[in-house]
Amino acid sequence: MARIVLKFGGTSVGDVDRIKGVADRIERLVNEGNQVGVVVSAMAGVTNDLVKKTEAVAPLQDAAEYDTVVASGEQVTVGLLAMALEDRGIPARSWLGWQIPIHTDDAHGKARIQDVATENLEAALDRGEVLVVAGFQGMGPDGRITTLGRGGSDTSAVALAAAVQADRCDIYTDVDGVYTTDPRIVSGARKLERVTYEEMLEMASLGAKVLQTRSVGLAMNEGVRLQVLSSFEDVPGTLVCGEDEIVEQQQVSGVTYSRDEAKITLQKVADRPGVAASVFGPLADHHINVDMIVQNISEDGQSTDLTFTVGDADLDRAVQILQDQKNALGYAEIVPDRNVVKVSVLGVGMRSHAGIAQTMFRTLAEKGINVQVISTSEIAVSVLVGEDYTELALRALHHAYGLDSA
Ligand code: ADP
Ligand code: ASP
Ligand code: MG
Repeated sequence: MARIVLKFGGTSVGDVDRIKGVADRIERLVNEGNQVGVVVSAMAGVTNDLVKKTEAVAPLQDAAEYDTVVASGEQVTVGLLAMALEDRGIPARSWLGWQIPIHTDDAHGKARIQDVATENLEAALDRGEVLVVAGFQGMGPDGRITTLGRGGSDTSAVALAAAVQADRCDIYTDVDGVYTTDPRIVSGARKLERVTYEEMLEMASLGAKVLQTRSVGLAMNEGVRLQVLSSFEDVPGTLVCGEDEIVEQQQVSGVTYSRDEAKITLQKVADRPGVAASVFGPLADHHINVDMIVQNISEDGQSTDLTFTVGDADLDRAVQILQDQKNALGYAEIVPDRNVVKVSVLGVGMRSHAGIAQTMFRTLAEKGINVQVISTSEIAVSVLVGEDYTELALRALHHAYGLDSA
């Protein structure tokens, strides 16, 4: 007997028949004598619709009310799945975040889980019930509903697995594993049998939304055995594990992209100490993360162009803040651009191999793709390019690093 936590994403619970399919899968595991906890997302498209409704009512909504609205999609799917299980004679009940409770901080819209109370859950498991837990949601310090950021059900599942000390956490989704790049864009993408926590963390944070970044960090810290599997096909998926469990290591294990980026250029900023601090300070004060940065000396030697990226969703606010400070910062022009994508290559092999960035730049140059900004980490190189080049860049890089499937 094992204790297993499963998670089913939006497509996997996309309609009533699929929810019944999930119930069938759980029935098999229960009949094999396993204890099961299952986390579900809202039906595909539902959370997007809810977000749009909040925006239509008030563009700058109250973040706590936003959470009250967008968390509701998961309430429907947990109820339906618990019903489907009971209909099969399997004891089950639905759990909303506040009923467990899953305690989070008060950062509405992107709350962090602080603690998952286990008393209720253990009692239910002892009674032989399947735990059907709403993903994406928790309860803030003041008792209000919080959400964990888009894609947050992955993190709910890992947190649940860690809390009840499950033997493993299986993430069921609409692809059959983690690929070398998004299989929906590059048909030659190859499924990885195994990927290290570290690479998966980097991949997720650089845009591969197959797992929410925080879920991977949590799994790594808590030692949760994590697998990514298909809801629709019974084939082996991808195991996310420690480096010691991986036999052969590629130099580059994946290529990712993120369209959630926007570029801001401040033209002719004074070239003197303290300027960067006065530009980025106010953005940080407003919780706007700045990612890639490049500074060019401009021709007159007195001033410089400063280019950086922020999240797409933060662009308007960032521009507003910088415009409000125009006199203090003394730049000539502010130029925002949403038409950019961040493309990254990554792999733990980068620590020990030179020339990986060079291959990237050469490959993009050969395709006539202009690199606007560059950034690096220990195991990744990222470039900002025009959004129209997303597919071309991904395919070319995937090929250049020998990642194409045979
Ligand atoms: P779910 O609703 O099940 O949480 P998501 O849409 O959040 O599913 O994540 C699965 C999607 O992630 C896939 O449909 C795929 O397009 C995308 N994806 C991006 N990069 C990768 C990758 N490297 N490997 C697998 N899937 C990826
Ligand atoms: N339903 C939420 C979202 O669409 C959470 C999730 O699916 O993981 O972001
Ligand atoms: Mg997801």
